[in-house]
Amino acid sequence: MSSIGEGPLRVFGVPPELLREQLAALSGAGYRLVGLSEALDLLDGGCTDPLVALTFDDGYVDFLDHAVGVLAEAGAGATLYMSVGHMGEPAGWLGAQAGTLGPIMDWAQLAEVAGAGIEIGNHSLIHHPLDVLPTAQLDQEIRDSHVRLADAMARPIRSFAYPHGYNSAAVRATVARYGYTNACEVGRRLYRDGTDRFAVSRLQPTPDHSGEDLLELVRGGGSRLVPGLKRAAQPGWRVARRVALRVFHAKLT
Ligand SMILES: [Zn+2]
Repeated sequence: MSSIGEGPLRVFGVPPELLREQLAALSGAGYRLVGLSEALDLLDGGCTDPLVALTFDDGYVDFLDHAVGVLAEAGAGATLYMSVGHMGEPAGWLGAQAGTLGPIMDWAQLAEVAGAGIEIGNHSLIHHPLDVLPTAQLDQEIRDSHVRLADAMARPIRSFAYPHGYNSAAVRATVARYGYTNACEVGRRLYRDGTDRFAVSRLQPTPDHSGEDLLELVRGGGSRLVPGLKRAAQPGWRVARRVALRVFHAKLT
């Protein structure tokens, strides 16, 4: 059994067999599984189906090797956020020891993922918290990563995920200026439609979540601070979440 997370991060990686079980539990409970921009488009179109948006960060090669097939079997859409400045290399950014995170996809691999119907989103260039960057560097981070992705994908890049989840009013405004329609942080709570689409919160499944556990997390919102199961299960409550958690995100956010 191979893991979506590799090496020391395996503890937070969700193995493909478990991902399959988790997706089946959500589908079986009536949730429609889609990428984030599609989920928001559906809401805008008046859709009242229960939706779960699936998101994956960083763009590891094992997403292509393992997750793409499982998603296709489940008939699920998803959004993959690429760490654009690390493509074709081991992930070696803040909080990561060189070589521990597994390689990031190259452009040809990313094209395969996009060809499978996965939405490609932007996760910045250098994977540094954006809220602490000087204005000029913040702008460059978002502009350069955006231009590279948009040129390579030949389709609009609409969704952004803040590295480590950190954002600010300036970060959100800069992302919006480059044509994005939504962006997500970490949050660990349900996203409520009508709140800021440049701060979409996400829940974080781990290998400890069976299919049933994940269903409970989605219904309950993952926090005592959000409304309980009954209210969360009603249409109007929506969830964005990611399946593959990376450990430094948990440490830093
Ligand atoms: Zn990341």
